[in-house]
Amino acid sequence: MSKGRLFIVSAPSGCGKGTILAEVFKDRKVYYSVSCTTRGPREGEKEGVNYHYITEKQFSQMIEENGFLEYAQFSGNYYGTPKKAVMEKLEQGIDTVLEIETNGAFQVKEKIPEAVMIFILPPSISELERRLRKRGTEDEATIAKRVSEAEGEIKRSFEYDYVIMNDDLDPAIADFKEIIDNYADPDARAQGFKTKNEQVKKMIEEVLEK
Ligand code: 5GP
Repeated sequence: MSKGRLFIVSAPSGCGKGTILAEVFKDRKVYYSVSCTTRGPREGEKEGVNYHYITEKQFSQMIEENGFLEYAQFSGNYYGTPKKAVMEKLEQGIDTVLEIETNGAFQVKEKIPEAVMIFILPPSISELERRLRKRGTEDEATIAKRVSEAEGEIKRSFEYDYVIMNDDLDPAIADFKEIIDNYADPDARAQGFKTKNEQVKKMIEEVLEK
């Protein structure tokens, strides 16, 4: 059986990543990797669904046992992708999605070069800040931290394979579908989302300026 495809998706928090992914993969067979984290569950999150919530000690043990495909520290907590489940799904020919931040994303790309890296951009830094505030799950200090982290991540989006803009949900979903269906086709519209593209580079620069 042919191997499943691996999609690495990164987006600063508040970019609408969850909504886009749920819509894009609604009618497709896909495995969403469930990460381990040392941060506590937010309201409404469930163990084994959103994350596996583990202690720092358990996290260190998994590192020692080589249990992570990648791991990184983000916003004062550790996050890691359990290796076994992902490799098994790919072997079984099942497409797999990792929703991870940039440091982890580059670690995976180095190990699995055929993985497709996709970055979702907010329309601007100020709009991202507005969305975070509207969500109301974080205090002001956390919002400020998330905004500065987002800037750092957006700067690294130049190194992704594809970048899409989420200023409007429906076109963002359509763009994402175009990429996952046609990234290997040199004539497809998907080529227009490549970061090698001058227009895409300009779009990233503009997001950082506003
Ligand atoms: P949050 O705490 O908001 O759920 O996630 C914070 C950041 O960690 C997000 O950018 C999210 O994509 C990323 N993240 C979640 N799971 C993993 C993981 O397993 N590895 C890495 N490197 N980042 C992760």
